[in-house]
Amino acid sequence: MSQSAALRERFESAFMPNYGVPPVAIARGAGCVVWDADGRRYLDLIGGIAVSSLGHAHPALVEAVSHQVATLAHTSNLFLHEPEVLLAERLLGLLGQPARVFLANSGTEANEAALKLAIKYGKTHGKTYFVAAEMGFHGRTLGALSLTGKPSIRDQFGPFPIDVRFVPYGDADALKNAVTQDCAAVFLEPTQGEAGVVPPPDGYFRAAREICSATGALLVADEIQSAIGRTGHWFAHQAEGVVPDVLTLAKGLGGGLPIGACIGFGEAGTVFEKGDHGSTFGGNPVSCAAALAVLGTIERDGLLEHVKRAGRMLGDGIAAVDHPLLAGVRGRGLWLAIVLTAERSAQVQAAAQEAGFLVNALQPDAVRLAPPLVITDAEIESFLAALPGILEAANE
Ligand SMILES: *Cc1c(COP(=O)(O)O)cnc(C)c1O
Repeated sequence: MSQSAALRERFESAFMPNYGVPPVAIARGAGCVVWDADGRRYLDLIGGIAVSSLGHAHPALVEAVSHQVATLAHTSNLFLHEPEVLLAERLLGLLGQPARVFLANSGTEANEAALKLAIKYGKTHGKTYFVAAEMGFHGRTLGALSLTGKPSIRDQFGPFPIDVRFVPYGDADALKNAVTQDCAAVFLEPTQGEAGVVPPPDGYFRAAREICSATGALLVADEIQSAIGRTGHWFAHQAEGVVPDVLTLAKGLGGGLPIGACIGFGEAGTVFEKGDHGSTFGGNPVSCAAALAVLGTIERDGLLEHVKRAGRMLGDGIAAVDHPLLAGVRGRGLWLAIVLTAERSAQVQAAAQEAGFLVNALQPDAVRLAPPLVITDAEIESFLAALPGILEAANE
């Protein structure tokens, strides 16, 4: 039996069945390439779900994390440390707006902070309910799950202790009707990630800003997947010319180390008072050092421009493929969905793996690509050259 197959068997016996058994046991990586436990090489076009922004084993990340873990790994929030201060200042500088930062360990925790902040804001302003989008994804812990609009992962764990009203994503009129003076906050992704990399119609996010400003609801932008260069901008909302009241970040920020952030703009930055929220590990020095290395490398290496160009090359290249299984491509930057004419994404993922490419069957008819931001032209070309064969194998 291969090493991978043996590990998969042991995984299946030792772990709860919530993930099923993942198809590949990854042993190591370098840049955009990973090797499995049997030494098979794959081009990683999913980057640990839009997390490994700098690819694998990037020297800047290795150096920052190694140095920090050898210096100081943890303080708790009973004490402060320079990496967290530098990171918060760096994020505020990139946002260019008066704001305050809370650091967490994951996306769902960043949204839990945003939700508690919004609940407190609602209580002080007599606002009682929340609005979120159908098929939206905000996380798996109970608060974030209550905002998540995907019935298959939500319904069996309800009822939830907060009143959330769901609207169809991208429909500004429906949003306007749902947001009254009693609405405390609207939670939206600038492009829906888990729903299938679904961008809204132009102007939707600006309309959401106007609707929230008119009633005094907080606009919470969940940029856990869309930020830190993924779309070719530091933050997707910046491309829309919109400033939210609250912003949540995670995935790409730490380049693979766990970190999340909840950022409150203006008055939303001081809703929490001393004692209102906290996290033992949140903002730990090693994750902060990793995030500083990610942000520094994106800037130093001009990766935002690279993502815009490489994303066009990848997207245009996919769109140019002529195959009956291919309906088109959607998304921005290095955050794309290959849209299929039939529900065969699992077959596409398997055929891609067979051909040496890791992609993600996100929806029955959509395959997600979210490669490291450092992917090279030659790597993109190798995938584009293989794509017709992958689609052909998946269509059989
Ligand atoms: C991944 C994701 C989350 C949850 O993040 P975790 O780190 O998995 O808890 C929340 N919102 C969006 C938009 C995401 O993509």
